[in-house]
Amino acid sequence: QVELPSPQHFRVNRKHLEEVSSVARQRKRILVTGGAGFLGSHLCEKLIRAEQEVLCVDNFYTGSKVNLAGLLQSPHFELMRHDVTFPLYVEVDEIYNLACPASPIHYQYDPVQTTKTSVHGSINMLGLAKRVKAKILQASTSEVYGDPEMHPQEETYWGRVNPIGPRSCYDEGKRCAETLFFDYRRQHNLSIKVARIFNTYGPRMQANDGRVVSNFIVQALTGRPITIYGDGRQTRSFCYVDDLIDGLIRLMNSGDEITGPINLGNPVEFTMMELAETVIELTGSKSGVEFKALPTDDPRQRQPDIGQARNALGWSPSVQLREGLGKTIAYFDNLLRVQGNGAAL
Ligand code: NAD
Ligand code: UDP
Ligand code: UDP
Repeated sequence: QVELPSPQHFRVNRKHLEEVSSVARQRKRILVTGGAGFLGSHLCEKLIRAEQEVLCVDNFYTGSKVNLAGLLQSPHFELMRHDVTFPLYVEVDEIYNLACPASPIHYQYDPVQTTKTSVHGSINMLGLAKRVKAKILQASTSEVYGDPEMHPQEETYWGRVNPIGPRSCYDEGKRCAETLFFDYRRQHNLSIKVARIFNTYGPRMQANDGRVVSNFIVQALTGRPITIYGDGRQTRSFCYVDDLIDGLIRLMNSGDEITGPINLGNPVEFTMMELAETVIELTGSKSGVEFKALPTDDPRQRQPDIGQARNALGWSPSVQLREGLGKTIAYFDNLLRVQGNGAAL
């Protein structure tokens, strides 16, 4: 015999309901596309900590629920499996558009889908922003500068991108997304923000996505040779994830006149050889280095000019490479213990 709940059970405590909905009304409703990925999951966490309502939309191509484990129980967090190349009808106040695979291995696996994600995905999110009058931020990239002749790269530099190479699906997709953002502003007066993100690293990078920081750390921790592509003299500037997320939120919260594009990254530049040596030193690894072919169209140097971010947002990164690498090494060390070495490679 099933016992039915008494009518008392369904009675709503009106005072409690009013309190809850008044709190909900004060919070902004923020959509984060690509929120289950590396940067997206850190962003969702920071927004929830800042007492906002977060809707995370992700197709789980390179992201995972595991990245959001700490948020799934929160009544202020919602996770939706959805591909941004299809329309999305929700009601929100702000949109952070991060959906897009970011590592060469993943964005080159299905290059047509990569372009669609940047182009169709941006059109859909801009159409959504237009309908609900939301502020919208695009996660663009330093790759819009391609293999640059200007160094460091300022936002006024138009870039040197190969339109038909293996990296083009990502680079040109992101360039077209920037075009769409500025056309929606000019044509429909949208409140837009475009961040050009430079190489960012930290906990929750994927161990097997081929990016240099995760590759070197996992190789060092498992005693395998550190793979240096080319002669190792090419440079990158690495920003720790917490600094980057702080920059994205400052940009979103800036005045309507600040649209960007605005560089966000750490201007301290390293060669890949220097990075390998630092990782070997910090892990105490016995790994040697192994030279491999340089991938096609691999940029020789990259360093952001962050003058605009300093002036307009009062932002500059505060975590030095050695400190950030230490935290990232601790993350991967723990991951390898839990998953075993094989799972990471
Ligand atoms: P990531 O691969 O960890 O995250 C991307 C997320 O987007 C994943 O969760 C993935 O599942 C999701 N996604 C991909 N295609 C989608 C689609 N069609 N619909 C819905 N979700 C989709 O990468 P990340 O490093 O966190 O990068 C996030 C954003 O920042 C990307 O747009 C990337 O281009 C940009 N960015 C990152 C860096 C960096 O160094 N990490 C540098 C420049 C720009
Ligand atoms: N769109 C969406 N959610 C919305 C509104 C629009 O996904 O809430 C998509 C819709 O698929 C549309 C695209 O955004 O094709 C661009 O919208 P816009 O209004 O700019 O142009 P439309 O194609 O509707 O004329
Ligand atoms: N790289 C390397 N060894 C690796 C992975 C990457 O030497 O195991 C190099 C790569 O050729 C590039 C730099 O490191 O010059 C940064 O590569 P990543 O894919 O992390 O970022 P991106 O090229 O998109 O800046």
